[in-house]
Amino acid sequence: MPTLTFLGGAGQVTGSCYLIETAEARVLLECGLFQGPPEVERLNERAFAFDPRTLDAVIVSHAHLDHSGLLPKLVRAGYTGAIHVTPPTRDLLELLLEDAAFLQARDAEWENRRRGRNPEAHEPLYTTDDVERVLAQCRTVEYRRRFEPAAGIGARFRDAGHILGSAIVELELEGRRLVFSGDLGNRDSLLLRDPETVAAADVVLLESTYGDRDHRSLAATLAEFEQILVEAAAHAGNVIVPAFAVERTQELLYFLGELYEAGRLPQQRIFLDSPMAIAATEVYRRYERLLDVRIPGIRSHAGRHRVLPPLQYSLTTEDSMAINRISGGAIIIAGSGMCNGGRVRFHLKHNLWRPQAHVVIVGFQARGTPGRALVDGARTLRLFGEEVEVRARVHTLGGFSAHAGQSQLVEWARAIGGRPRVHLVHGEPEKTAALRAALAARAGLTATPAEPGRTIAL
Ligand code: ZN
Repeated sequence: MPTLTFLGGAGQVTGSCYLIETAEARVLLECGLFQGPPEVERLNERAFAFDPRTLDAVIVSHAHLDHSGLLPKLVRAGYTGAIHVTPPTRDLLELLLEDAAFLQARDAEWENRRRGRNPEAHEPLYTTDDVERVLAQCRTVEYRRRFEPAAGIGARFRDAGHILGSAIVELELEGRRLVFSGDLGNRDSLLLRDPETVAAADVVLLESTYGDRDHRSLAATLAEFEQILVEAAAHAGNVIVPAFAVERTQELLYFLGELYEAGRLPQQRIFLDSPMAIAATEVYRRYERLLDVRIPGIRSHAGRHRVLPPLQYSLTTEDSMAINRISGGAIIIAGSGMCNGGRVRFHLKHNLWRPQAHVVIVGFQARGTPGRALVDGARTLRLFGEEVEVRARVHTLGGFSAHAGQSQLVEWARAIGGRPRVHLVHGEPEKTAALRAALAARAGLTATPAEPGRTIAL
């Protein structure tokens, strides 16, 4: 009987990692980074609960770091086999893992300076060399094509509709059918197709990030965003949007493209001020065949892409600094999404004190981040050693989400034939509990919250 052990993403959102063992093979599903407060991030330092050299294959559902961010540590620990991903996931991994390696090198340096030891004392988890090895070990597989990652195991990716390249993973193991939802997308997504349905399963691992609620409608959110743009233009203020490089930025560009085409975009200048977001946008454009729409950019390849004329890519530091001289009339999209790093902090420093400026929050803000402080109504924000007064209008738009809400999760699980047993992963305990109740009441399904370290028979 094949087994599965929950090594991460159980009882919490981050660190997805599931070890599958059959009589013939050992396969690792996901190899995610733990993210959050220091006691959670410390879990990344632990040795793997298995010997990476004994794995036959690795499968990763999508490029987000909480699903992929320990892959470089895995190859550093001796894993030399294939890492199965969809083609866009491979391209996004290149951006996200290289950025993660860069941030770790920087954090290790700070930590050493703080401790006053020599720069070698605190080692980063991995380096860009390890990331290069991960990319070399990636084997890409298109959606819906069957592949055999290891002896006696059949596998298939289906479109999860969460970010570009995201997959639901179907596995056949010694006659048993295991379905892993991956992160399941929101049907309200502007860019992506709806999550595919799965015909049948014996066991389902279902994510539960928003297991306790449904999202506000995207249409209402977009109408609110448009209203903010109109108001900012009327008072000649800038609009600062702290955004995540992958997915949210492309959604915003798509929406701004729609407004432009309809003649309803009041701003003449839009800056995408993030080399990573620019690179991610180009990846989205490369895989437009997998999207529902065409992503606007500044370049059009042989007229194939949509172009958004007010958009400018800001690649260099000089480009970014030049934006600081603009006192109004621009939309500035810059990272990081929670304002705890990146170029957006310069734009906040130059705009937060202006009453005619607007800051639009479009993504989740973790506790303790400057973005969260803005959402919570902070009067001042400390930026580069200076207290900057918050006189700009701060708006929090709640309707953007890359995850299915509770009703969509229940609907997706209910459509699976074969009366599967459901194990709930990738959620905080109270969200998981709420989803468990909803699955029982509305789909007649029995669901169990995954427990860290526990092994189940499939
Ligand atoms: Zn994700």
